Amino acid sequence: MIIVIDGPAGSGKSSTAKEIANRLNIQFLDSGALYRAVTFYWITSEKPDIRSFIKLLPEVELSSEYKNRTFYVKLNGNDITDEIRTQRVAEHVSEVAMQPEVRAFVNRHMRNLVVNDVYIADGRDLGTAVFPDAQIKFYMTASIEERAKRRLKEMQQSDAEITLKDVMNNIRQRDQKDQSRASDPLKKADDAIEIDTTGKTFDEQISDMITIIETKIKLNH
Ligand code: C5P
Repeated sequence: MIIVIDGPAGSGKSSTAKEIANRLNIQFLDSGALYRAVTFYWITSEKPDIRSFIKLLPEVELSSEYKNRTFYVKLNGNDITDEIRTQRVAEHVSEVAMQPEVRAFVNRHMRNLVVNDVYIADGRDLGTAVFPDAQIKFYMTASIEERAKRRLKEMQQSDAEITLKDVMNNIRQRDQKDQSRASDPLKKADDAIEIDTTGKTFDEQISDMITIIETKIKLNH
């Protein structure tokens, strides 16, 4: 079984999905982290032109694991969990994620992963393209100011120089690219439940969503 949460950058999808995973004792999958991992590979292979990079994808061995409230990502055996959270990766990720071959590569990884357990996953196109048959679909939103403030807090842990303005610009650009790309753009699935978290406390939002999940699961039994 899979529950998905889609939405724009910084809408709180990952922290929400993680908290729900912990409370319901299920697995968590962070699809953005996988796109970031491929982007990190592109950056560290000295950014060949993007079409030549696609040819390197068969060399990429990606693995991921959720443990102790952290989604760990390994690339060719090396742990890159912290490296994928830098501004440098954030600046390039939407460009890399736009490539249909990259999307097919990441989607394959995700579909293989979820077959053996119950998952809650977060992303942009999970309810529309990757898991259109997901049992429960959420679409999370929040104002751009609130989203940028949340991301700033997270990014300041690895980059002390970063400003709110930088983060806001990056989020705006990524939203624009993610919504307008030809391949599986960010959009709310018709059957997704919209959750606007502006002005809501984290606890309120989590308990609203858990109530929805429990009600839906009961109805399906
Ligand atoms: O969720 P996060 O902000 O870490 O995602 C990083 C980037 O990965 C997004 O801006 C988007 O370009 C890409 N992404 C995507 N499809 C997903 C998840 C993330 O294109 N399902």
